[in-house]
Amino acid sequence: MKKDMKKSKSDNSNYSMETRLLLGKDFTEKWDFSHHVTAPISSSTTFRLDSVDRGARGFMQFGNIEDFIEDPIFIYDRLGEPNKDILEENLAFAEEGESAVTFATGMGAISAIMGILTKSNDEVIAHNTMYGCTISLFNNWYPRYNIRVIYTNLTNKENLVENITEKTKVIYFETPSNPNLDIIDIKAVRKIIDIENQKRDDANKIYIVIDNTFSTPYCQRPIKFGADFVVHSLTKGIGGFGTDMGGVVIGPKKFKGMLLLYRKDFGAVLSTKAAWAILTYGLPTVALRQKKQIETAQKIAEYLEKHPKIEFVNYPGLKSYKHHEVAKKQMLDFEGNFAPGSIIYVVLKGNNPAESKENGSKFMDYIAENAYTLTLAVSLGHSRTLIEHPASMTHSVIPAEELESRAIDPGGVRIAIGLENADDIISDIEKSLEII
Ligand SMILES: *Cc1c(COP(=O)(O)O)cnc(C)c1O
Repeated sequence: MKKDMKKSKSDNSNYSMETRLLLGKDFTEKWDFSHHVTAPISSSTTFRLDSVDRGARGFMQFGNIEDFIEDPIFIYDRLGEPNKDILEENLAFAEEGESAVTFATGMGAISAIMGILTKSNDEVIAHNTMYGCTISLFNNWYPRYNIRVIYTNLTNKENLVENITEKTKVIYFETPSNPNLDIIDIKAVRKIIDIENQKRDDANKIYIVIDNTFSTPYCQRPIKFGADFVVHSLTKGIGGFGTDMGGVVIGPKKFKGMLLLYRKDFGAVLSTKAAWAILTYGLPTVALRQKKQIETAQKIAEYLEKHPKIEFVNYPGLKSYKHHEVAKKQMLDFEGNFAPGSIIYVVLKGNNPAESKENGSKFMDYIAENAYTLTLAVSLGHSRTLIEHPASMTHSVIPAEELESRAIDPGGVRIAIGLENADDIISDIEKSLEII
């Protein structure tokens, strides 16, 4: 790479985050941006080494993560290549964290951060409501490694204090949680862990890991409130269009080497084509999309809340929502405005849980067949509005008798708002509710 590469045009720190996310970093040591407007896709799994010495220096660089590498030497895609590396710089910037490492999927990212922070005999404290595959990872695989996961309701901080033991190594949660949108006070968790960590030496600290997928960095930056690490499924709101899978861990620079080593050896590497799409279309438009989706979600949540066939609506933007006040403290856009996200959780009325579940199924089946603006599908953060039934789809790993303790209603419906006109979505929902 040439040394006379163009440096950053000017100090851009006075521009809004909306603009800075759209344009990205206009200088990177990973690519010659003097001549490309959009980063090209790197389609090379391996890289020419001019000499054995260059190869040796490349491997040395991989082991020693420096602040700024003047002359990055790429060796092999699984170790690092320009598209992922540029995306990582921009994701760390968006989350206001020090460094980022991408993975093939959100689950790849979650298993990597948990993989480097835990070992046999350790304990993890996790919120009782989370993404189904994260629960599956903890329940189906961690017993093999003798890692114990204690689930508790972290919206009540007493539950955290009570469950900490000397074996505790990680506090893990989503806020808002998938699918029911529990909000956990990040600062309050930080405070409790700080007190506990004072008693521990450096090798034994407890780390806080937050899955920020539901918010995207536009609506919440947990590191600012005390999280050590943030993970994302890039497949969702950051990717934004439902075309590519990806995941990322963002956190302190000193862990970057371990995360890269884990990725290299376990192999969940983000493909260059996916990295390129997320870098080119997803991240630059996240502010634009989230803004519109929040506006629509607020309108739909308010509509649903008043509907006679609806039992209750969980949406952080609703004043009636029990976690509204906590959400207002930490779900903030880059200008500090309340940004309650684009996901709504709703439960239909019924005389008993079975009837409520049946009404939910009827409603969704009608939508699957008739609604133009709503699609029955898992995933979220998409340009299209997606609706799904957690108890039988994304959270089917949870046995029926455990649903209640995990605060998932048998008839709960998750709506992930897209970019359609809000009134069109409301009109489709209205017609679909009429048939119940
Ligand atoms: C989808 C999702 C994941 C997993 O991401 P994949 O990219 O599908 O592996 C993790 N956490 C949350 C909250 C999710 O919604």
